[in-house]
Amino acid sequence: MPSEQAAAGERALAERLRSSLRGEVIDRGHPGYDEARAVWNGLIDRRPAVIARCAGTADVVEAVAASREHRPVVSIRGGGHQVAGSGVCDDGLVIDLSPMKGVHVDPSARTARAQAGVTWGELDRETQLHGLVTPGGEISATGIAGLTLGGGLGFVMRTFGLSCDSVRSLEIVTADGVVRTASREEEPDLFWAARGGGRGLGVVTSFEFDLHALGPEVAGVLVLHAQERAEEVLRAWRDATYTAPETVTPEILLWSVPAGPAIPPELHRSNCVMVGAVYGGPPDGGATAALAPQRDLGPPLMDLSGTLPYVTLQSANTWRFPDGERYFMKSHFMEELTDDAIRTLVDWDSRRPTPESLIVVRTLGGAVARVGPDDSAFAHRSARYNVSIDAGWRDPALDEAAIGWARSAWDAMKPFSSGGTYVNFAGLGEDASELRGAVFGAHEERLERTRAAYDPEGLFAPAARRP
Ligand SMILES: Cc1cc2nc3c(=O)[nH]c(=O)nc-3n(C[C@H](O)[C@H](O)[C@H](O)COP(=O)(O)OP(=O)(O)OC[C@H]3O[C@@H](n4cnc5c(N)ncnc54)[C@H](O)[C@@H]3O)c2cc1C
Repeated sequence: MPSEQAAAGERALAERLRSSLRGEVIDRGHPGYDEARAVWNGLIDRRPAVIARCAGTADVVEAVAASREHRPVVSIRGGGHQVAGSGVCDDGLVIDLSPMKGVHVDPSARTARAQAGVTWGELDRETQLHGLVTPGGEISATGIAGLTLGGGLGFVMRTFGLSCDSVRSLEIVTADGVVRTASREEEPDLFWAARGGGRGLGVVTSFEFDLHALGPEVAGVLVLHAQERAEEVLRAWRDATYTAPETVTPEILLWSVPAGPAIPPELHRSNCVMVGAVYGGPPDGGATAALAPQRDLGPPLMDLSGTLPYVTLQSANTWRFPDGERYFMKSHFMEELTDDAIRTLVDWDSRRPTPESLIVVRTLGGAVARVGPDDSAFAHRSARYNVSIDAGWRDPALDEAAIGWARSAWDAMKPFSSGGTYVNFAGLGEDASELRGAVFGAHEERLERTRAAYDPEGLFAPAARRP
């Protein structure tokens, strides 16, 4: 519990916010406090002093003004899915954008304006009414805000780029309380930084995204192979990624078979290799031929490939990452996936601590690599792959074993890494300072300069430091 003096400060902050916000202000005594401070990762148990649930940009301006007056530690929450739980802080102010759910699609201009509390599932639902998408992440419950500000790797990134590459402009409240538009023409430094290095620049209230024609039906590959063939399948898959066209975004998962109705019960939860790929064009426009090399990697356990609605694809695995369970993720960017790297991955796959834990190799290149290395703060344009090691478990007694597995597997893959790591899969808080160079690479200095220019007093410094 805070000291008497700190408690008085917290009360004053809460009163200041209550007198000026349209949205709800939640403090330690509020009946909704525990629900409002919970994030997706059940490992995170932080107790902020006050949560300002912003109803709109004007509320964000007031929350930023209150932060300047009272100087609490500030964290910013979009969809609440960062594995490190960095959207919530202890004893400080959470500027919570999750009530801000507005989406407006302009099909003729092929743009969508989405507020910062929107999730990918919510955005896809609106854009898909018009057969349009902005490339998002692979799990519909994640927030558009954190994901886009960190880059945004997804199922159609080789065709349409990272999520941040489709940002045409964004609205941001900076530390001085000014509502700014950042785009190529206005505040270009801020716009550069927000695309890949967007933590701690200010509070983004909405994004204007470019939209691309795709859906409602898309063609995809989903083939399950036996774990015993993992090394052989990974090698063949790697070779197939070299010649994949930009219309195909391949990935491979070392995971367990889902307990779904389409799958024979004897396979449920057994270890397997899942080959996935999505075609970023009309399902009948050469998709079958383009996807064939991903589909034909030897005798499968099951082949579930076919066409499906884009919104179904985007939410197909969401149920496998339920809110409130325990998670830890870390990743490496890689230039190559050598035979030694594959052997190491297969070795660590065989030691996965729970069926919920997985290793994912995503393929970059294509539209991601066509953006110039200095065009945005995202620092990994030349990487061919991202390998993420994702532990998931329920029982707190497994905390050490599960986190230990992910950390050790990540260490074992270090020799094969480009040296880069992805801010959106960046472990827990204690990694933040060690990881900064790996996350932002050569862009670290320019990012710091940009942050200092817009936030000279470091109001958002904690948000910038956390992954
Ligand atoms: C199950 C799961 C699947 C995932 N899949 C993918 C994937 O396919 N591709 C991918 O790229 N990533 C993926 N991620 C990682 C995801 O990109 C990050 O977790 C991201 O931070 C989620 O955004 P959020 O808004 O939900 O997070 P939050 O936890 O709310 O925010 C994370 C951080 O972003 C900053 N932030 C958030 N909102 C704002 C804002 N409005 N203004 C300024 N700063 C803000 C804050 O610093 C905050 O601490 C996945 C994560 C999970 C949990």
